[in-house]
Amino acid sequence: MKNQIVLQGIQYDEKSSYITGPALAPPLIRKAYRSDSANYFAENGMELRPETFNDLGDFEIKDYFDIEKITAQNLNKELPLITLGGDHSITFPILKALNALHGPVQILHVDAHGDLYHDFEGDPYSHACPFARIMENKLATRLVQLGIRTLSTHQREQAKKFNVEIIEMKEYALSKLPQFNKPIYLSLDIDALDPAFAPGVSHYEPGGFSTRQVLDIIQHIKAPIIGADIVEYNPTRDINGMTAMVSAKFLKEITAKILENNTVQNG
Ligand code: MN
Ligand code: MN
Repeated sequence: MKNQIVLQGIQYDEKSSYITGPALAPPLIRKAYRSDSANYFAENGMELRPETFNDLGDFEIKDYFDIEKITAQNLNKELPLITLGGDHSITFPILKALNALHGPVQILHVDAHGDLYHDFEGDPYSHACPFARIMENKLATRLVQLGIRTLSTHQREQAKKFNVEIIEMKEYALSKLPQFNKPIYLSLDIDALDPAFAPGVSHYEPGGFSTRQVLDIIQHIKAPIIGADIVEYNPTRDINGMTAMVSAKFLKEITAKILENNTVQNG
């Protein structure tokens, strides 16, 4: 399979509220993807060699507002887009670019955090805010969040205001996973995982998903997927590149799922 999916790396972490580091992630996720320690077969049997991607490389971002412009240039109406972040602030400008091409989407958001703050320490574009901006700008008709385990009173109010469907971590079960009737965008914040599985993140929030649980979520998606991001991997906090490998595994399995679902849809 060749050039089935557009891949872009967004090297940007200026909207991180605690520590930086995710800007370093995209080349390390690619390196892990190509590592000789694993092969290119996804669990569904598809072989996803690097040529599967129309890989546009990594973009070093200086100005937050360039993310939308660069994504718009990289987008292709025929092909799904996967973005390697970057902190989670990048999802709002990506969705803006995607919206211009496809209209509003439905979103499956996997994260320890709701990222629904109206502003965080005065910044409305902080990585704690992207889903408030996305909902205010009507870039999504539905937002489902999984793995959440840090909701403040303000974020609960925001969730109510925007009709966000939250399955909190404490009540999560695979059987509760909603299905979507429209193409979706998948936004995967690596800190949704328990830090035991993914220590390379800025915000350690114990009590999260295992790697297997997130793979199960990906593999249970039945709707076509028009875009996805993998964000918040922070190499400065990683141990032996293990979180890079987890991120690369998610890249492979998300790609497999996209190709599986979108093929069914087309054929
Ligand atoms: Mn997040
Ligand atoms: Mn998070």
